[in-house]
Amino acid sequence: MTQNCSSGGCGPRAPLTAEQEQILLGHGTEYPGSSPLNAEKREGAYHCAACGTLLFRSTTKYESGSGWPSFWAAEPGGVATRRDTSHGMVREEAHCAECEGHLGHVFPDGPPPTGLRYCMNGLALDFRPDEQPNVATRPVEQGGWSA
Ligand SMILES: [Zn+2]
Repeated sequence: MTQNCSSGGCGPRAPLTAEQEQILLGHGTEYPGSSPLNAEKREGAYHCAACGTLLFRSTTKYESGSGWPSFWAAEPGGVATRRDTSHGMVREEAHCAECEGHLGHVFPDGPPPTGLRYCMNGLALDFRPDEQPNVATRPVEQGGWSA
């Protein structure tokens, strides 16, 4: 299978599951706390599960306590938003800028420096950890929003 992807190195790694299709194509929402990516702490990149576009880096991931993988910033050009007035609420719907697959929503209650919370469905994300030749000697990272 060949992928028409100008940025290189992307493309989906596996066919979508029924649950992923329901979120990405049907604007569904996974159960909070159901995604293994909630606890994912490794460094790496989060790609669109549908088309492989780079959406987030692990450097902007934080623990929001919402039960969904949360980020305070998206990669430039990776995530697009539009106003969503469904369900009697006004929200910012977030979707893949490339394939328009539904990812989640963006809320204005995130941590600095952006103040944004990209509340994502883990099933819409494909996490690809960085190569880590020697994890044990890496220094503890500064900062964080663990409160
Ligand atoms: Zn996509």
